[in-house]
Amino acid sequence: MEKVIVRFAPSPTGLLHVGNARTALLNYLFARKLGGKFLLRIDDTDAARSTREFEDAIYRDLDWLGLRHDLTDRQFGRLKIYSTAFYRLQAAGRVYPCYETEAELERQRALLKLRKLPPIYERGALKLTEVERAAFEAEGRTPHWRFKLSRQKVRWTDLVRGPVEIDTATMSDPVLVRADGAFLYTLPSVADDIDFAISHVVRGEDHVTNTAAQIEIFQALDATVPEFAHFPLLVGAGGEALSKRLGSLSLAELRDGGMEPLAVAAYLAKIGTSDAIEPRLSLDELALEFDFAKIGRAPAHFDPEELAALNAKTLHQMPYAMVAGRVNIPEALWEAIKPNLTKLSDAETLAQLVTGPVTPVIEDAGLTAKAAALLPPEPWTEETWGLWTKAISAETGAKGRGLFHPLRLALTSRGDGPELKKLLPLIGRAKALARLEGKTA
Ligand code: GLU
Repeated sequence: MEKVIVRFAPSPTGLLHVGNARTALLNYLFARKLGGKFLLRIDDTDAARSTREFEDAIYRDLDWLGLRHDLTDRQFGRLKIYSTAFYRLQAAGRVYPCYETEAELERQRALLKLRKLPPIYERGALKLTEVERAAFEAEGRTPHWRFKLSRQKVRWTDLVRGPVEIDTATMSDPVLVRADGAFLYTLPSVADDIDFAISHVVRGEDHVTNTAAQIEIFQALDATVPEFAHFPLLVGAGGEALSKRLGSLSLAELRDGGMEPLAVAAYLAKIGTSDAIEPRLSLDELALEFDFAKIGRAPAHFDPEELAALNAKTLHQMPYAMVAGRVNIPEALWEAIKPNLTKLSDAETLAQLVTGPVTPVIEDAGLTAKAAALLPPEPWTEETWGLWTKAISAETGAKGRGLFHPLRLALTSRGDGPELKKLLPLIGRAKALARLEGKTA
């Protein structure tokens, strides 16, 4: 197989949302699996809407997700390359100037609709005479430029969709350059894919039609056509389009909401595939399991609740080494509390049940007094809890909830929480005794 080079090409016109993140991730995992390269291309040709802040947010979000890229470039610095590609298309007779205003194009589409015809640009500009063109220019109109599609069938074998055939006669000739001279997305993307020797274009299925036109542009520029993989888009849990709620589904929001990057990555890698949605503790594991053949044709359902559940499961599996720099608690305490976490930010609150200060809740003073008297000497292990509570039960006759609930409330002030057999040795005899006696410790 040729060298794998893929790219993620976001526009810095907003925050990355889960859909963009999935595109980035699938590119990354594929490259990672095959020892290829993952490039980040900032699609900032739309100067009016692109901002440095959004670009910085893209770097931050990708970094948070752990998607390291091998190279970054910005389209805005590469306009010369697009001009060169444009002149080559011009020399090959594949672009033509058009003078219609947006209002005129709108009228043409309305007329086609009345005649029950598809709204395909009818190439009026190709029929202009020199004199008519000169007249437009004299009026002060500058042309926009369209690419002349072959109006034949374009075929490729999509790595997700299988054989695809699109008749470019069913499409309008795409505008490559606007009347103000700005390049639209279509040509710069192809010119960059050629220049960076992109081997695989991996993106959402909303680009399938673009691909047909872009394949013709690759060919018109005598370039090798990359392979394509178009995966189905994300929809909400109930099948609704995600676009309506994208604001709330930005990576920044998920991060602030306590989602672990690995949980987000595992979730985005697995939804819409034949694999089960289960925790993974590294991107490398996800990369090894990655396969285009596992991606289904139906939209992938993004359910924030399912992600939250995966987040909790991911934390329950995390070894201390993975969180040591992020939480200020010792290893034994991490092991004791992690099965009760839904977010990492809860860790320190749970740790406080051990370290204190805890103001005990005394529910059954008689029982806790006897329990205090029966506390064995240290050293304590995980066995201590069982031995101690058996002794209390034998002395008082209490069992089940009547035994455990008052002890938990006295030792931790809460009615639920991590396993007491794990907490007790960490709390230690001095604090346990004080709490059983009703003192804050
Ligand atoms: N900037 C384009 C987008 O975000 C890139 C599409 C592509 O991958 O070619 O839709």
